Amino acid sequence: MKVTKAEWVISAVKPAQYPADALPEIALAGRSNVGKSSLINRLINRKNLARTSSKPGKTQTINFYRINDILYFADMPGYGFAKVPKSVKAAWGRMIEGYLLHRRELCGVIQVIDLRHPPTRDDQNMYAWLKHYGIPAIVAATKADKISKGQWPKHLKRIREGIGLVPEDPLILFSAQTGQGKEELWKGIRRLTGN
Ligand code: GDP
Repeated sequence: MKVTKAEWVISAVKPAQYPADALPEIALAGRSNVGKSSLINRLINRKNLARTSSKPGKTQTINFYRINDILYFADMPGYGFAKVPKSVKAAWGRMIEGYLLHRRELCGVIQVIDLRHPPTRDDQNMYAWLKHYGIPAIVAATKADKISKGQWPKHLKRIREGIGLVPEDPLILFSAQTGQGKEELWKGIRRLTGN
């Protein structure tokens, strides 16, 4: 997909601030520091629109980006961060749960997982939760450039089995560094949004 326009619209802390123009939405979920911002930037060919954050878990907002005036990316705060009070985790949970359950514009979620490591408990919970509520997902296994090609199948299998990926959800090998998987991911996004 050729992205000619990509703009940050709002960092929302509550539903009243979510965009009201009813465009289809794709949400992004992933552990803090997994490479979610880098993936978004690569998808839209911008160096730094989705800020690559060095403060894991700090941003408790949903960032909305309008792409080509046809869809939104809703970048959710990273999960699995250590060293935050229980109350913050609870607030995170409520916000994300509320968004995922009630947002009519939501077409699906890109869950970003680090290809190098086995899925974490938080990765497993997030995916299980999406499936429990019947939300379509695409799993992007990122940082593929960090391991050798020969190891990819083994690592993909570990992710597929670790989260219990259902056959209808694609698992896409991705690298924000090389751009690998970008077109395949866009294909998946278009399938979800009907664009
Ligand atoms: P976020 O917290 O999930 O948004 O993660 P960031 O996008 O800020 O990425 C965290 C770190 O991983 C940064 O240092 C990125 O440069 C690095 N990173 C992200 N994606 C990739 C990738 O595909 N390949 C490599 N080599 N590094 C990556």
